[in-house]
Amino acid sequence: MNNEPNVCIVGSINMDLTVKTDKMPMQGETVLGDTFFTNPGGKGANQAVAAARMGANVNFIGAVGEDAFGKTLLQNLTNEGVRKTGIETIPDVSTGTATIILSDNDNRIIVAPGANNHVTPELVEKYRDLIKSSDIVLMQLEVPMETIEFTTELAETNGVPIIMNPAPFQQLPEKVLKNISYMTPNEIELAAMKEDPLFDFIQEKLVVTRGDKGVSFVENGTEQDTDGYHVHVTDTTGAGDTFNGTLAGELARGAELAEAVNVANAAAALSVSKIGAQGGMPTKQDVQRFLQ
Ligand code: ATP
Repeated sequence: MNNEPNVCIVGSINMDLTVKTDKMPMQGETVLGDTFFTNPGGKGANQAVAAARMGANVNFIGAVGEDAFGKTLLQNLTNEGVRKTGIETIPDVSTGTATIILSDNDNRIIVAPGANNHVTPELVEKYRDLIKSSDIVLMQLEVPMETIEFTTELAETNGVPIIMNPAPFQQLPEKVLKNISYMTPNEIELAAMKEDPLFDFIQEKLVVTRGDKGVSFVENGTEQDTDGYHVHVTDTTGAGDTFNGTLAGELARGAELAEAVNVANAAAALSVSKIGAQGGMPTKQDVQRFLQ
């Protein structure tokens, strides 16, 4: 087993801005809302925190804007032990944000990618050594497609396996699908993927998360199902991110796929029993205790 597992994430860093309201405003209407809060987010950053809490060395290639959110988010990653050599602060650009309007029966979200759109192939090229020296690369679809194409090709050329979490869902070009080692959709993303004529390319690489039903994956050409762990559900936000970050850390450590899936399934279950995306992510000790 590899005691120094290295994960490299090329992805998004956002500040989530959430306002709770009893009444969703209609077109042209202003309403008085309830509480407002900010939380670190972005699928890339969330998955980085999950992997770091599980004890992996995590390098991040990404970008924030030159603003207060950027400073706070960088500090948050430092506190979590994520290595920031590959993160640049882009002048005159805002940090990525997700503005979330939350009411009892309706959620509305606007993502403004901001600096995440500056995670370019040139930025990845600059930090290519972080990719070459990692045991696994983990990506999502919140950075530009040309960066996804470039990074997957770079990792493949250097023999570094790639986990692709296809969220938020977009169709991927054939050259990306051919280069990745594991594809981790949830059930909704899987349904969208099945419409793709290139679905055959990834069938053998699937690790499908199925909420409380657990995970299905393909190992040596055979589909296997792992049940979900029974937990008291408090907040499912970030379950998918916890799963992906943990899976990356475990595979980087040298675990077999079935073992890595089991640990990620447990970590994700623990995360839904607590509030918050990053706030609910367990540590390695939490997961070890849970699995004893
Ligand atoms: P989210 O968008 O809420 O972060 P997702 O839609 O990306 O999640 P899911 O398939 O819903 O992904 O959940 C990911 C994993 O989290 C599941 O495969 C499972 O391991 C765990 N999980 C999610 N919900 C539950 C639950 N209610 N009980 C136990 N485990 C859960």
